[in-house]
Amino acid sequence: MDKLYLASLLRDIEGLEEEFGISTIAELKKFLGDELEKKTLVIMPNNTGANCRCAICGKRTQPRIPYEIFLCDTFDEVCSECAKKYDTALAEMLEFYYTKSEAEHAEGEG
Ligand SMILES: [Zn+2]
Repeated sequence: MDKLYLASLLRDIEGLEEEFGISTIAELKKFLGDELEKKTLVIMPNNTGANCRCAICGKRTQPRIPYEIFLCDTFDEVCSECAKKYDTALAEMLEFYYTKSEAEHAEGEG
């Protein structure tokens, strides 16, 4: 983390204190409540199969090509277990896509 980034965080925290009377992490967590637990996930095109860590649980995950699930507004990948937990329909949609395309491949070869 660089110093400029930390300084910008500090300014944000000062703003929170003025606006909401929040000055500690504990108060911030309490204020955010369930919002902290809510994760917006999206399916995005993916062209790298490089091993990386899940943005939610931190577990190593193998991204799939050409589509994978990411945290909204980031390029942080989410493992299939977390995807199922936070957005079941989205995770099932992607599973369906891969199951279907695998089946089509198998048909083509046979
Ligand atoms: Zn995960």
